[in-house]
Amino acid sequence: MLDKKLLNFISRESKRLIRFYGSNTDSRTRNLARLAKVTEELGELSNEVLAIDGDQRSSKLSGNHREKAAEEIADVIITVLLLAEHLDLDAERALKQKIKKIKNRKY
Ligand SMILES: [Mg+2]
Repeated sequence: MLDKKLLNFISRESKRLIRFYGSNTDSRTRNLARLAKVTEELGELSNEVLAIDGDQRSSKLSGNHREKAAEEIADVIITVLLLAEHLDLDAERALKQKIKKIKNRKY
């Protein structure tokens, strides 16, 4: 379901981030930092989605907001997968299980 190249990238990026920010940082701190990063990227996506329909102040309305929203969606996906990697959660398995649950919904 999840592309092997994407998962390999996430694994390498996770290790690079640990090296960059210092491997002496404890796991709890890294978990919170990665969770904060997901929140940051969701905020950036929210900004672009609001801007698509002009629901932002004029100083935030320059540029192609559909293109920027797509980039922010990629950031959200990557940061969520990095969080899953750090928490040692199997995102692929979780996705498969969730899709199965959604397909079985009766509405
Ligand atoms: Mg971003």
